[in-house]
Amino acid sequence: MSKFIFVTGGVVSSLGKGITAASIGLLLRSRGLRVVHQKYDPYLNVDPGTMSPYQHGEVYVTDDGAETDLDLGHYERFSGVTTSRNCNYTAGRIYDTLIKKERRGDFLGGTVQVVPHVTGEICEAIRSVASPDVDVVIAEIGGTVGDIESHPFLEALRIFRQKEGRGNVMFIHVTLVPYLHKAGEVKTKPTQHSAQRLREIGIIADLLVCRSEVPLSKEIKNKLALFCNVDEDAVIEATDVDHSIYEIPLMFAAQKLDDFIVDHFGLNAKRLDLKLWRDYIDRVISAQRTVRIAMVGKYTEVPDAYKSIHESLAHGGAFHSTKVKIVNVSTDTIEENGPEAALAGVDGILVPGGFGTRGHEGKIEAIRYAREKGIPMFGICLGMQMAAVEFARNVLKLKGADSIEFTPETPHPIINLMEEQKKVMNLGGTMRLGAMPCKLATGSLAEKIYGKEIISERHRHRFEFNNDYRDQFVKNGMKLSGTSPDGGLVEIVELPDHPFFIGVQFHPELKSRPIDPHPIFRDFVAAAIERNKKVNS
Ligand code: GLN
Repeated sequence: MSKFIFVTGGVVSSLGKGITAASIGLLLRSRGLRVVHQKYDPYLNVDPGTMSPYQHGEVYVTDDGAETDLDLGHYERFSGVTTSRNCNYTAGRIYDTLIKKERRGDFLGGTVQVVPHVTGEICEAIRSVASPDVDVVIAEIGGTVGDIESHPFLEALRIFRQKEGRGNVMFIHVTLVPYLHKAGEVKTKPTQHSAQRLREIGIIADLLVCRSEVPLSKEIKNKLALFCNVDEDAVIEATDVDHSIYEIPLMFAAQKLDDFIVDHFGLNAKRLDLKLWRDYIDRVISAQRTVRIAMVGKYTEVPDAYKSIHESLAHGGAFHSTKVKIVNVSTDTIEENGPEAALAGVDGILVPGGFGTRGHEGKIEAIRYAREKGIPMFGICLGMQMAAVEFARNVLKLKGADSIEFTPETPHPIINLMEEQKKVMNLGGTMRLGAMPCKLATGSLAEKIYGKEIISERHRHRFEFNNDYRDQFVKNGMKLSGTSPDGGLVEIVELPDHPFFIGVQFHPELKSRPIDPHPIFRDFVAAAIERNKKVNS
């Protein structure tokens, strides 16, 4: 049966537990092991779908339509696994399930309690992904040891290890080893306290991943091992990487982290093979050329809000041995100063997804600028919808054209609410969500990019292109190059007379991987390189 690795965090948040878990997933998969990732989030929202990007960053959507934590994006990008609904549980979801059971009468006569019921529900969620086809389950626990809200999760893990047997469970604690510049020393005490805090709960860490600004000496590592109760080869340092987060697995591999895990569980694994991964890093490091891509969004000051897009651009750039410099352009700036001032000198313009009325006029202006100046333009979800609205307003001359999300009384609802969406009352989990097939038109840019006729991409939106306007768009030069297989829904628009202009209703950024870049990002960067050469020649 499956083995279980639990990744916890101590001292401070934002230490990179997600990347640590994802890197471990990559190492184990590269040794031929079958891996499933899970993330447990201690907050009470049932899922992050209703949370603002300011609070939570990007919402990552799985093939099966779950709105999940952005760490699942790291897992997919590093490990190459495909995640699903069962890979992300919040405290809210655990409680929701439990309370529904209570209302149904499942516990009739009994008191429902954090222990054993909440903890039992957590253990069940962990077991739900274990199977004879899975060698290792890697579950990351959000939050920091010592948080009140993490406590039931950690208690559940303690119970889980008790029941599964020590040899089948491993605890990895990600912690901070600060460097005090004035004293010129690294300090082990916060990590000692953090490991002690875990032991108070009954959890003894098997391995420490120590985030540190500076490399840790043998002496410091041995001190950490002694006082935190781990083996000497179980202190892994995680210093800042120079070029790319994708170097982190290589750093762990150099310290034989994979060997430690394989030996701990007595697994039968092949030798580590990270060739494709190293090739990727080599392309990143050796990239000489740089292109500048404008990201026209309203959350530009929150780096995590467009996490997967940033990563996908890096993947697309590395494919061409090119650095992609992302120029964050806030929609507010475009609305205030016009697109020329904000977008001068960029090689490509990417208009990402979004919700709510603020900033949508800025997106429309950026798209007009890209269309008129022949600058490569890539619109995603709301970006595609705004490309349609821009075309309606400025090419079809349909005054007041808009999405009904922003102007419900518009005379030209280019982007409309789907029939089944009109009945929706609850906001959580009710959009058009998850992977859907899409049929590409023969001879289109989309077909050239994907190199096939039927594709599958993930969606997260409520509104759709209004079919009443199809003829006018086509007659005036906008190609509707991707539709749902029955032809009912427009999924991709493009301008054949433009160097590169494409808008997609889905979120391709969710499926890009460093060693397998998404073809639209790959070709968008290629178009930006062409533009850059043309302008500078
Ligand atoms: N707000 C738009 C909709 O709901 C676009 C969503 C998005 O960009 N993800 O359809």
